[in-house]
Amino acid sequence: DGDKDKEKDKADRATSEQVLDQRTRMILLQMINRGAVSEVHGAISTGKEANVYGAVLHDDSSGETTHRAIKVYKTAILVFKDRERYITGEHRFKGGFDKGNSRKMVKLWAEKEYRNLRRIYNAGIPCPEPIQLKLHVLVMGFLGDRKGWAFPRLRDAVLAGDDVDRQWRSLYVQLLGIMRKMYQVCRLVHADLSEYNILYNKDKLYIIDVSQSVEPDHPRSLEFLRMDIKNVGDFFRRKGVDTLSDRAIFNFITAPTGPVEEPDMAAAIEKLYELMHMAENDDDAAEREVDNEVFRNQYIPQTLEQVYDIEKDAQRVGKGEGNDLIYSNLLADQVVNPKREDAEPSESSDESDNGAELSS
Ligand code: ADP
Ligand code: MG
Repeated sequence: DGDKDKEKDKADRATSEQVLDQRTRMILLQMINRGAVSEVHGAISTGKEANVYGAVLHDDSSGETTHRAIKVYKTAILVFKDRERYITGEHRFKGGFDKGNSRKMVKLWAEKEYRNLRRIYNAGIPCPEPIQLKLHVLVMGFLGDRKGWAFPRLRDAVLAGDDVDRQWRSLYVQLLGIMRKMYQVCRLVHADLSEYNILYNKDKLYIIDVSQSVEPDHPRSLEFLRMDIKNVGDFFRRKGVDTLSDRAIFNFITAPTGPVEEPDMAAAIEKLYELMHMAENDDDAAEREVDNEVFRNQYIPQTLEQVYDIEKDAQRVGKGEGNDLIYSNLLADQVVNPKREDAEPSESSDESDNGAELSS
């Protein structure tokens, strides 16, 4: 039935890539009727998994216009096959994916983005405001100017100050702080973090595209975190920034104690720089690269069951040793952040609305 799958994928793609399908148009219409938006405009972005459209909301009483963004997930099956790894092991999606039902899958996917966005937004991390979710359609705040021009991705950002090098470095430090706060406060690893999923405006970074973000207890969260760290380091090194080692950043992000707000996080990062430069001599940049390589290939135990000799390791961590253990922070994390039953008690309140199927 591989052929049948292929045919169905083709048909799905045809409906999802050209114009909005009937179902999506119905949802948009409903959103207009309910006043979430007044007009839906053209696509800001057409991607493999979703299209993002610009929209506006007219406030008739004040005469003001607010821009919004609408992310419409595509229902093509193929795309979602390789996304399963993010869902499997995610306790918030215990049922997992029903792989045969692509509509259900995109709905889950949009829901995941909405919930993750809400956590990030509530933590005060710059990101689009989550406004409304209906099946595979997500309405969010627009990141852009008042004329409706979206902020550039970090990849395309042109810094215009008179000390561009210093600006890139401070954006790097800002991003490390965001990653730590996401991990410690939102309990999320972005899992697709790069210069493509960060928008830039006026010295400020905005996090987007969080449908695949996972909680620290996801079986692969640390692997994803390590990947995020690598992407971020690679990008800022290309911009000429003197970056910290992947290992130092990993420890900074996962350390259960320490600041989670600015300017304290930035200060903590400056401390790491001091430590690094104190210990270093000239050819240590090369050594750092070697350590990055080692770190990237190091086995990360994800759960305490996977740790080889937990008692011995825990004793060492208790004595203030064990800094060579990649997971020393995780042992400590168990004490500081015992697993919470429900990280978002307020979340159930709108669940019923999210779950409502559109009758058509
Ligand atoms: P994809 O899954 O296709 O990568 P993203 O969430 O990354 O989807 O969005 C794709 C692009 O759409 C982004 O690179 C950005 O340019 C634009 N975009 C997404 N969300 C917003 C928003 N809230 N405001 C303005 N532009 C946005
Ligand atoms: Mg993206």
